[in-house]
Amino acid sequence: MRTLFTILSLAISSMVIGQNIHRCGTVEAIAHREAVNPGYSKAVEQTFEQVKHIIAQKDINDPDPIYQIPVVVHIVYNTPDENISSDLVYSQIARLNRDYRRLNEDTADTRIDFKPVAADAGIEFYLAGVDPQGNPSGGITRTQTSRADFAPDFFGNGLDDVKQSTLGGVDAWDTDNYLNIWVCDLLGNNSLFQILGFAYPPATAPNWPNGSAASDPNFEGVVIHYGVFGENNPAATGMLAVADKGRTAVHEVGHYLGLRHIWGDVLFGDGCTEDDGLDDTPNASANAGQVCNFNNNTCTDSPVDFPDMIENYMDYAEEQCMNLFTQDQVDIMRSMLETARTDLADGSVEPSGIDDLIDTNQIGLFPNPNAGLFQIQVPADLNLQAISVFDSKGMLVHQQSLVGSRDQVELALQVKPGAYFAQLQFDKGVANKRLLIN
Ligand SMILES: [Zn+2]
Repeated sequence: MRTLFTILSLAISSMVIGQNIHRCGTVEAIAHREAVNPGYSKAVEQTFEQVKHIIAQKDINDPDPIYQIPVVVHIVYNTPDENISSDLVYSQIARLNRDYRRLNEDTADTRIDFKPVAADAGIEFYLAGVDPQGNPSGGITRTQTSRADFAPDFFGNGLDDVKQSTLGGVDAWDTDNYLNIWVCDLLGNNSLFQILGFAYPPATAPNWPNGSAASDPNFEGVVIHYGVFGENNPAATGMLAVADKGRTAVHEVGHYLGLRHIWGDVLFGDGCTEDDGLDDTPNASANAGQVCNFNNNTCTDSPVDFPDMIENYMDYAEEQCMNLFTQDQVDIMRSMLETARTDLADGSVEPSGIDDLIDTNQIGLFPNPNAGLFQIQVPADLNLQAISVFDSKGMLVHQQSLVGSRDQVELALQVKPGAYFAQLQFDKGVANKRLLIN
């Protein structure tokens, strides 16, 4: 009953606030699952504690690999507007890559208090180049549905409908190996329970009650309202203008990789006693409330009283002032990839090569395969800046920076025979090329 009461209260409060949209439904989704499957939130809690324990035991001298996550974007549309362009999808992948590598354009806006804890997550995303059956793919599916929308009802029911073809949605691609992102109309005309996105955090199997529907792996992934997917989405106007930089997906992928809201989601009582379990995000009693208010300081921290960290992707500030994950958040996300989502970034899914608007057909890499000496040809106007080469496990094996525009570069590798990915960093984005050493 408490769960029902919680959802009711939230619905009522967003109704009272009127124009204030509820940005993310992750907490409500978990509350709903807890109502259906008692034990779910305890399982999430236990996973979180296990991960903190693993981090504490980690050898700080171990090199940190870059994790690369294959993504499939399922566009489920009823009207032509909802069938968003591929360019918006590419801009979303680019946004994820910038923000999760702390290569975002606005790192300079991080306040001096928080610069020491802001961190590169070392996580990258690419559109999948093959589907689970092994067919070539661009990493985007498009499905017209007869359903007007996928807004949950007053009680939070229906949140997972978009993930089920029998309910007018699209079934997930193997969620162990792909990050599934569904893009649909999540708002509908429902003025009581409005969310722009949601995701479930990982929960490891041993903690699940037997026969729990919550253990259904087909519901893993992220759902985003079509109007806030990608950067400068033409539909991100009016109420949605606070979310026009593609950071709803950055936030939801953070949940998917185990992060909580930094204010701790307390609904009643003293919000300063409840936090996200991490030491380097200052306590806050409430979220940032869809604005950029740098004077917010809702709790007194000790020994240093920091302001609320409204720059954090896991808060609800307007997206133009979001710009960081902290080191503790990064540790949680990377540990989740090492313990709970272990197959996700193992390099088993080939990239589509369609990344960040760079057409890989313009890029030559030859002879391929060979023993380790490649020529790379690129249009000089793309301005190739750097080349990174990763092995099939995502470990960085080679890196070179380039100065000045050029159309041909030599890539010399001394590595074991096998499959590798070369990631080419241009002014406007990155492109991945597969290469083989024999
Ligand atoms: Zn959230």
